[in-house]
Amino acid sequence: MAQERILLIEDEPDIAEVLQYNLEKEGFAVEVARRGDTGLEALRREPADLLVLDLMLPGIDGLELTRLLKRDAATSRLPIVMLTARGEEVDRIVGLELGADDYISKPFSPREVVLRVKAVLRRLQPEDAVSDLLEVGGIQLDVSGHQLRVRGREAPLTATEFRLLRLLMERGGRVQTRGQLLSDVWGYAEDIDSRTVDTHIRRLRRKLGPEADRIETVIGVGYRLRP
Ligand code: CA
Repeated sequence: MAQERILLIEDEPDIAEVLQYNLEKEGFAVEVARRGDTGLEALRREPADLLVLDLMLPGIDGLELTRLLKRDAATSRLPIVMLTARGEEVDRIVGLELGADDYISKPFSPREVVLRVKAVLRRLQPEDAVSDLLEVGGIQLDVSGHQLRVRGREAPLTATEFRLLRLLMERGGRVQTRGQLLSDVWGYAEDIDSRTVDTHIRRLRRKLGPEADRIETVIGVGYRLRP
């Protein structure tokens, strides 16, 4: 298997060094950039499989960089793990809304970073034997037959509701921002009225009946399907 490449953008040398060491020990090829703008140049020069991104950076800050990467088709799918310091909760929410995949709050252990990085990469890997039946609690979704059963009873779904439910089930428990859902379910690039998502979630909950509360609202961020 090819070595997976990680770009780490972090301006604090001690943190950068310890993370690089630990990620390389796990077999990743790690490149370090100390500024947002040089990090962006590094990505354009050679694509990475994952970006570990500090938020407070010289040059271009982490949020602005995320915005730029998501806007560019060449990098919009690049998974991003953000490093946030205490007091950056608002930035963290903005980062997730912009499409970051995960965040780690400082101070963190290098081990934690390695685990999160691996988890994000694993989630993105296409599974060889994709089961046709998705099952969470009393919800059963037959993917090829487009059929939903809730606690054994069949419930009809529209095409959009089907895509929305399938996505929430496949992303097992992970919070999906409204922006992500809009882009992955509806295919909108950005800035379309996010109430579209809320409306469909409401309808989907009705169809899920006794399992409706599996779809949790994460205030200020989006939705997740409770495993
Ligand atoms: Ca920093």
